[in-house]
Amino acid sequence: MTQVGEPRTEAGAALERVPHWIGGARVAGRSGRFGPVYDPAVGAIARTVDFASVEEVDAVVASAAAAFPAWRATSLSKRTEILFRIRNLVEAHRTEIAAHLTAEHGKVTSDALGEIARGLENLEFACGIPTLMKGGFSEQASTGVDVYQIRQPLGVVAGITPFNFPAMVPIWMFGNALACGNTFILKPSEKDPSAALLMAELLAEAGVPAGVFNVVQGDRVAVDRLLEHPAIAAVSFVGSTPIARHIYETATRNGKRVQALGGAKNHMLVLPDADIDMAADAAVSAGYGSAGERCMAIATIVAVGDVADPLIEAIRARVPRVTVGPGTDPASQMGPLVTRQHMEKVASYLESAPRQGATLVADGREHPLHRAGVGFFLGASLIDHVDAGMDCYRDEIFGPVLTVIRVRTYEEGVRLINANPYGNGAAIFTRDGGAGRRFQFEVNAGMVGINVPIPVPVAYYSFGGWKASLFGDLHMYGPEGIQFYTRAKVVTSRWPDPGTSSVDLGFPRTR
Ligand code: NAD
Repeated sequence: MTQVGEPRTEAGAALERVPHWIGGARVAGRSGRFGPVYDPAVGAIARTVDFASVEEVDAVVASAAAAFPAWRATSLSKRTEILFRIRNLVEAHRTEIAAHLTAEHGKVTSDALGEIARGLENLEFACGIPTLMKGGFSEQASTGVDVYQIRQPLGVVAGITPFNFPAMVPIWMFGNALACGNTFILKPSEKDPSAALLMAELLAEAGVPAGVFNVVQGDRVAVDRLLEHPAIAAVSFVGSTPIARHIYETATRNGKRVQALGGAKNHMLVLPDADIDMAADAAVSAGYGSAGERCMAIATIVAVGDVADPLIEAIRARVPRVTVGPGTDPASQMGPLVTRQHMEKVASYLESAPRQGATLVADGREHPLHRAGVGFFLGASLIDHVDAGMDCYRDEIFGPVLTVIRVRTYEEGVRLINANPYGNGAAIFTRDGGAGRRFQFEVNAGMVGINVPIPVPVAYYSFGGWKASLFGDLHMYGPEGIQFYTRAKVVTSRWPDPGTSSVDLGFPRTR
């Protein structure tokens, strides 16, 4: 939602504005356009965020381009030293960053701290940049000739991030991008923009020179300018599939390197031999954690054979014990959804699913906080007897709703998962090692869990889905992140003695 004019509270007082970060300082927007930032636990606008104009984006890009030559020439050891300092400052300020996440996203404090912990792992990986950027050397590739490969940064790179991980996903990108010697422009989600600004301040304190890391706040206007700006070399994106497709198509058409991670519909296949309690605990944790607003959340349980009844009963019994409340309350396990509009969309599937023939086992609309209408709360929900044609299966709900599809066999379950257009994560729960190994071989998903419901790779592997969950060739962070943010240069070199050369117009025939 874009607004123009002066942001004010309902009582008329001026609202706090979240500005840009350009050239190493906070810069107030001048476009006159801004958007609301809600406190999802109370359901009111808490502040506003400036929306950049094309001219403001151009100013950010100019700042990042001007900073690039000096940053790429900064020694690996100096960049490493700065990265260590960033890592330590993020850790030292994790409670403050987490408070922003809870205030604007709504996630509970323990979950926000977990998000930062995973971000720290990515920064720790980036601290190994001297090793990660090592090239290769072939001595005497031909007589007296050496060939070697070096990796160099791309230039100015942009990251466009979603609302659900306002700290971790930017870190996935900027840790490696800066380590490799690029300058970086972050366009955070307009729903929860404050954590990005705090991180910008920490980066400056760590010694990142002005212009090397920038934050441009905004909406489609800012994004589309980044996608077409000739000085942007590469774009990393994480968000929903329709926007990921738009980013990929537009930025590649403009000659940029792109990795665009999209939405998901993650399945958990439960075989009859699975430990019911373990599977139910995993389904509840992975389905309702962060109110289901995780790209790796379990959305659909695929129950094989006679495991369905006891498994659904075990999940149903756990649902009332999921404590829903404000993210700041240490007793809360699940906070509100990010906006009223999103909450209403999620709740609409609880309406449509029974109409389409499913069974609503637990209805989150009955939760007292949802009924009270204060904040964007919705209780944990469970829908059984879902089939592949129903809206609650076809769409990415991105809320605290677990759907269950019953199948007769393992083969039927894998066919269902592989036919789904998304391919982010997929998990199997079984006590049978052979079945687990077969699943890892057969399933069409980028990240696979065996008795692990949310198989987010550790920072020294890379993160990415298949099918409509990723557009582009390289996964994010880890070794593929380094590959994404650098390009190879191969040097062929010889130092012959003077007087030993002759003219030869042919291709070399001798070795
Ligand atoms: P979103 O696609 O609405 O927004 C993502 C970013 O794109 C934001 O910065 C937003 O400002 C920008 N944007 C939105 N509409 C745009 C438009 N029309 N043109 C240009 N830019 C636009 O996603 P979201 O709602 O913020 O995040 C939730 C989605 O992200 C879910 O689909 C979730 O699965 C996905 N996600 C995926 C991963 C992954 O790793 N695959 C990780 C986290 C989230």
